[in-house]
Amino acid sequence: MTPVTHARGQTVALFGLGGSGLATARALKAGGARVIACDDSAAQMEKARSEDIEIADLREIAWSEVSSLILAPGVPLTHKDGKPFTHWTVELARANKVEIIGDIELFCRERRAIAPDAPFIAITGTNGKSTTTALIAHILREAGKDAQIGGNIGTAILSLQPPALDRFHVIECSSFQIDLAPSLDASVGVLLNVTPDHLDRHGTIADYAAIKERLVKRAHLQVVGIDDEFCRDIAARLQPSGLTRISAAQGADVFFRNSAIWRGHGGQVEKIADLSAVRSLRGAHNGQNAAAAAAALLACGLSAKSIAAGLASFPGLPHRLEEIGSLGPAIFVNDSKATNADSTEKALSSFDNGVFWILGGKSKEGGITPLKPYFGRIAKAYLIGAASDEFAATLDGAAPFERSETLDVAVASAARDVANSKAKEPVVLLSPACASYDQYPNFEVRGDHFRSLVNELPGFAPRRARL
Ligand code: ADP
Repeated sequence: MTPVTHARGQTVALFGLGGSGLATARALKAGGARVIACDDSAAQMEKARSEDIEIADLREIAWSEVSSLILAPGVPLTHKDGKPFTHWTVELARANKVEIIGDIELFCRERRAIAPDAPFIAITGTNGKSTTTALIAHILREAGKDAQIGGNIGTAILSLQPPALDRFHVIECSSFQIDLAPSLDASVGVLLNVTPDHLDRHGTIADYAAIKERLVKRAHLQVVGIDDEFCRDIAARLQPSGLTRISAAQGADVFFRNSAIWRGHGGQVEKIADLSAVRSLRGAHNGQNAAAAAAALLACGLSAKSIAAGLASFPGLPHRLEEIGSLGPAIFVNDSKATNADSTEKALSSFDNGVFWILGGKSKEGGITPLKPYFGRIAKAYLIGAASDEFAATLDGAAPFERSETLDVAVASAARDVANSKAKEPVVLLSPACASYDQYPNFEVRGDHFRSLVNELPGFAPRRARL
């Protein structure tokens, strides 16, 4: 845990007692602050109370004594469902001239107070945040460094070990978290990409991009992807001296091309790492993630050799093009995180042909129509869940398909069909292009189900331990 010592003696109001909220309350208390916490859920409040955290209705507290309102990132700050909206706690805090911040801001203040030069890599972007964050932490650990990984991925930032000179904090930041961290000052800020997302909470794409920009603007060194217009503009506004531009589509300071990561300097290019055999980093999108990780770690002084070694041994994250194992020449890949056509496009573009594609669930607007250019790669599609009629209509005449309805039937059919495939390395790919809610509580449960069904296939050889 990182006790928040800089707030010792202060009274802090906290709303939202989910995972990161509880961790924040504990860290503030451990540092000597008085915390008054609240949540909409009686169960969460009871849990906090059982840990001796003071609970109160924040409408009834003495706001004149409160120094800050700590908000969980899930609480609407400016917009809800695309319309301007302010949570009642935010209104109360504003009326009482109390600042509104989140746990990452507390961490930044604590770092400045106890170890201002401690290495702190903050990662954001619309897509690829978790992969890049996990990749950076993995490379550091393989190089023998102490790397604390958390934020929007896994562990709440204040549950991690405190910042120290010989300890890296590798922190995934969502736009909501950045919005609540006005003094976020990472030693290296990484911005991967910006595409329209979460506009229901941020209002406009310009507001959303401006929030992402804040993470790199205040960072000591910056790594910015230049493959979309928003990020190119952001990169152009930064001081060139601390900036590394990365790309998976064009030449840049660090870039992905021909299955490798390259560094350009002084008109020369140097190969940093060959990714052609790295099965956890398939596809150009992962080339962008790997380029960003390499650039961030070069900026931290890590050698190209250590970076290449760490990239080569990255086990990957579950549910994201996760290669589970093989049955004869066929590989089985769990891409359950792909809940829309954009993400499934990344998967389909990562395999040439012989794709036995399991898809379906609760479809998103546009369905799988944008994936038509890839239908030639499909050996057969297996439709599950509520979107079956719609997807059958889109696939009709373009690729063979069956209506499997459920994942167990789809896996059994695909395993049977793939055994007769003539492709060199056929792939059974779960990349649903749909939300899971019609059949599963979330994409993780769906992916875990796929993994367990596949593991039960006679003769199946699992690939490796998961991260
Ligand atoms: P995030 O944490 O930002 O949601 P993840 O690393 O969990 O990102 O990846 C989620 C999905 O986003 C992946 O399954 C893939 O389809 C897609 N993706 C990953 N990296 C990128 C990237 N750099 N650019 C575009 N899409 C990506």
